Amino acid sequence: MIKKLRWTKAIALVLALGLGLSVSAQENYKHISKEDSVKVFPGGEQYKVKQFKANFKGKKPKNIIFMIGDGMGIAQVFGGMTANGGKLFLENFKYVGFSRTQSADNYVTDSAAGGTALSSGYKTYNGAIGVDMNKKSQPNIREYAEEKGIATGVISTSAITHATPASFMAHQPQRKMYEEIAGDFLNTNVDVFIGGGYDHFTKRKDGRNLAKELKDKGYKVLRDMKEIAKVKDGKLAGLTAPTHNPRYEERGDMLPVATQTALNILDNDKDGFFLMVEGSQIDWGGHQNDTHFVVNEMLDFDRAIGVALEFAAKNKETLIVVTADHETGGMAVLGGKYKSGMVKGGYATGHHSGVPVPVFAFGPGAEEFMGFMENIDIPKKLKAMMKR
Ligand SMILES: [Zn+2]
Repeated sequence: MIKKLRWTKAIALVLALGLGLSVSAQENYKHISKEDSVKVFPGGEQYKVKQFKANFKGKKPKNIIFMIGDGMGIAQVFGGMTANGGKLFLENFKYVGFSRTQSADNYVTDSAAGGTALSSGYKTYNGAIGVDMNKKSQPNIREYAEEKGIATGVISTSAITHATPASFMAHQPQRKMYEEIAGDFLNTNVDVFIGGGYDHFTKRKDGRNLAKELKDKGYKVLRDMKEIAKVKDGKLAGLTAPTHNPRYEERGDMLPVATQTALNILDNDKDGFFLMVEGSQIDWGGHQNDTHFVVNEMLDFDRAIGVALEFAAKNKETLIVVTADHETGGMAVLGGKYKSGMVKGGYATGHHSGVPVPVFAFGPGAEEFMGFMENIDIPKKLKAMMKR
């Protein structure tokens, strides 16, 4: 009997360790390895940036594209601009402001509290997903749009169950509750979501197979970006990696392609749409104090912004707002060359910092996003514009 008890305890211990390890493994991007982190981006391929005319229909947008560069401060933006020969699609945004990112319990926010502030308009505690300081669920702007019959979508280069995208889909007291967060996806009527996290939908403690349940709800559940890019209508669940997508060098143009795919699908809705697009891994480069990582992720995000601008400039009824949930690394641009694209970065920390982050706006209503504002003001302004 005692022997049996010891065995059970041992097995439970191993399981807990395994689980703890797998959950914490999904946050190991926060580790700085002195050897690997590259402070100097040597330069690379530079791309052409188009100037878009800013003439729009009406004062209020029919469509909203909300783009979040996780960990993207002005140094990350300018590092990218230097690397691309002094040019970025972001230059098309003439309305610029600053967002203060403090959370309810910390001068320096995490992505969960930052994401919840940007999605629901509530300051909350670090680690919270879509709940307030009392752990009470608070409706987010994507849900508000859904209620109004507006089509909605969420895209991320991390797992789609990770802090920022989860803040637009789920309500859980802790960001590491990936399986519970994935479960919340089934309680929505979201039209399209693309990101990693397939294992959180299929390899679950509760034995449910959410991929099958999504199919039963009429979603196309696809894992290959080539197949995903072909989808033009209907409901789409694009789960592109078991957990997080790899960094840009391995993942390629997944983000700009996913953005175009979502726009193709959502533009079918005559009542308009709301789309959230996250460039998640700028943050990871900041955590690792790795300028090569930061610059490549920043440029990838800027190219996705280019896809959104191409759509908005033609559509004339679309507002694009680009911001960040916080800055990561206390990054400084210490040197650079436009010609070669060389960027030398310096870092004050391996964590997030408390500085305000930029807000860029393009389209009908863009003038609302100037000056200093609190992060929670952004979804409130967007919600007011959704009123029909
Ligand atoms: Zn972070």
